[in-house]
Amino acid sequence: MSDNGPTSSTLEEEENSVTMVDVLKEETELEEDCNAVLGASDDQNCSYSKGYFRQALYACKTCCDPGVRAAICFACSLQCHEGHELVELYTKRHTRCDCGNSKFGDKSCSLDSTKAPENLENKYNQNYDGVYCICARPYPDPDETESDEMIQCIVCEDWYHSRHLGNGDNLPNDDDYSEMICSGCMKSHEFLWRYALKYSVSKTRKPSPSADNSINVEDVNTDCTLPSDDFPTKEGSCFWTEGWRSSLCTCSKCKKLYEEQEVLYLIDALDSVQAYEEVCKASKTETQYEKGMKALASLGHVQQLNAIEEYNNMKDSLKQYLQKFVENKKVVREEDIKEFFSGMKAQKRQRVDVPTFCR
Ligand SMILES: [Zn+2]
Ligand SMILES: [Zn+2]
Ligand SMILES: [Zn+2]
Ligand SMILES: [Zn+2]
Ligand SMILES: [Zn+2]
Ligand SMILES: [Zn+2]
Repeated sequence: MSDNGPTSSTLEEEENSVTMVDVLKEETELEEDCNAVLGASDDQNCSYSKGYFRQALYACKTCCDPGVRAAICFACSLQCHEGHELVELYTKRHTRCDCGNSKFGDKSCSLDSTKAPENLENKYNQNYDGVYCICARPYPDPDETESDEMIQCIVCEDWYHSRHLGNGDNLPNDDDYSEMICSGCMKSHEFLWRYALKYSVSKTRKPSPSADNSINVEDVNTDCTLPSDDFPTKEGSCFWTEGWRSSLCTCSKCKKLYEEQEVLYLIDALDSVQAYEEVCKASKTETQYEKGMKALASLGHVQQLNAIEEYNNMKDSLKQYLQKFVENKKVVREEDIKEFFSGMKAQKRQRVDVPTFCR
């Protein structure tokens, strides 16, 4: 009976029929996810010698007793802490690798043993203990019944459940804001509320950067552009529009204020996570997707068919390959991805060698 829907054999066919484009797209997404976390991270060399900068970091529960907070770079997470219980911290600004320094007792770093006992400029928050938000819960949370999106505050760099931001239901859509500052940080840096009138968004207040060009500035006799109008209700967390940072006044008086409050990075164009991701993207010359599309375009019709068939076969082995990492809770390295696809390339070279009489 055709009313009973597709038979099991056609279902199977549908599931297995993916195009080369699908596979390449999947590959690109995989690569993008990798880039966001790893960036230009080096998996062989400890990043210590590069000093303080934004990078992907880890904390080790195996090496550090509760209460000891230490930052571990990507290479050290693989080479010095393999098989340890690691907490993935995503990226944090201005941090230098602690692996093997005084925080680690007798354990030394196998990649760089020339470290000072402490990195005095590192700032550590509760994320290093494996907990997040004002509720101080782990992520993922084993006791969580409903999943709630977590948003990172760009000042303290902690992550918050959207229900714990202090804004009730008045949260903007993801696409309507670029950065968030948590309620605690808005309290500690009250001057930011002056900019909120024009550069913040909520569910009800959509971004309108050009709606009002007349900003009442603090002092007309100086070049200071700090708005004088105060935000009516200085409560909750603040969601900022794209480009809000460039509106921050850079007069000497304001810069001094940023320095005192230790938020000078707000006027650094390269500080944001977005800027970090851009740099990482730019450092890659050509993505696998672009390479794949070029290769496909250069093939003749018969060769294209062969290539598609081959990629269909590859899809399953890719899944199996990645599954191994999930099962072993291992971090997928850029090297691993490259290794997999270079294996595929070698296979492809053999297969698409179609004799000319086929055309
Ligand atoms: Zn390191
Ligand atoms: Zn460890
Ligand atoms: Zn190390
Ligand atoms: Zn929470
Ligand atoms: Zn914060
Ligand atoms: Zn100013």
